[in-house]
Amino acid sequence: MTATIKVTEPIVSCSDNGQHPLVYINLKNGSGRCQYCGKSFVRVGTETARDDKKAA
Ligand SMILES: [Zn+2]
Repeated sequence: MTATIKVTEPIVSCSDNGQHPLVYINLKNGSGRCQYCGKSFVRVGTETARDDKKAA
């Protein structure tokens, strides 16, 4: 069983409360998973609109 954690940052850290070494997970694709504990992280966009600034 895995938990899905919603975050707003593009990179998250996970140590599973010290159960495994601290790792950083890149969510540039929108989601990622901790390779140690299997937790899933999903990036939720509080500022997704900002990525579309190129429209002039
Ligand atoms: Zn973990």
